[in-house]
Amino acid sequence: MRLIRFIAGETVRPGIWRDGRVIDIQKWLPGAPDIGEAFFRDGWMDKVAAISDSGERIQARLTCPIVKPSKIICLGKNYAEHAKEGGFDMPERPLLFSKAPSALTGPFDPIVLPGSSGDVDWEVELAVVIGKECKRVSKRRAMDVIAGFTVMNDVSGRQAQFADSQWFRGKSFDTFAPLGPFIITRDEIGDIGNLRLETRVNGELMQEGSTRDLIFDIPTLIENISEDMTLLPGDIISTGTPSGVGFFRKPPIVLKAGDIVQCTIEPIGSLINAVIAG
Ligand code: ZN
Repeated sequence: MRLIRFIAGETVRPGIWRDGRVIDIQKWLPGAPDIGEAFFRDGWMDKVAAISDSGERIQARLTCPIVKPSKIICLGKNYAEHAKEGGFDMPERPLLFSKAPSALTGPFDPIVLPGSSGDVDWEVELAVVIGKECKRVSKRRAMDVIAGFTVMNDVSGRQAQFADSQWFRGKSFDTFAPLGPFIITRDEIGDIGNLRLETRVNGELMQEGSTRDLIFDIPTLIENISEDMTLLPGDIISTGTPSGVGFFRKPPIVLKAGDIVQCTIEPIGSLINAVIAG
């Protein structure tokens, strides 16, 4: 199943994407909440999966497929080649940082360059959406707490990231978390240990990697994070980026107004975001 949120007139509505058609969840299940904490906590995934409609072919703009997660947890240096390109040592345990949920934006919405800080960069990442409130989840049970998977571009303001002693500001500017286009469920994603990730900027291949090369895999991350931190339904864990970011290239490349950034993980799909001046 592929969950979406789409814009219909003035409102954003939760939906399912089936073979290029849109099913309006609230038309079939009046009272269904938007796709966020209550949706996952109160069992709407199962109800929605049972909708047998084949959907309508409508012109709908997709927006961020999740609303107001309590937290976005990100991983630093979780691909060996990316750690190497930055001149960092391999981490001995997962390196966590956070991104403000207010940075989320739609899969096809613009990335707005901040006025206060430069060197804006891309990071394609596989993101996990948590489906159950949980704590102290063992690796063995980790897959049971996942609602689905999506693509996140962990857009980064490198100037702010490295000028500050920690990363929160440079990772959290408005529009610095394009996410989507779908949340796809476990049964449709195939082998999560072998997904190809890529970033293209203006069509040119910049990042290419595979989840095979994650230093800490998804069950390990969930066990580690949930040891002392409650995960809530709708929380996002973004699993880190492969090598090929702009900042560590020689010479470095930074995003400028007019660029088009495309982050792809099949079979989930692509984020396509234009960069605009703030
Ligand atoms: Zn990242």
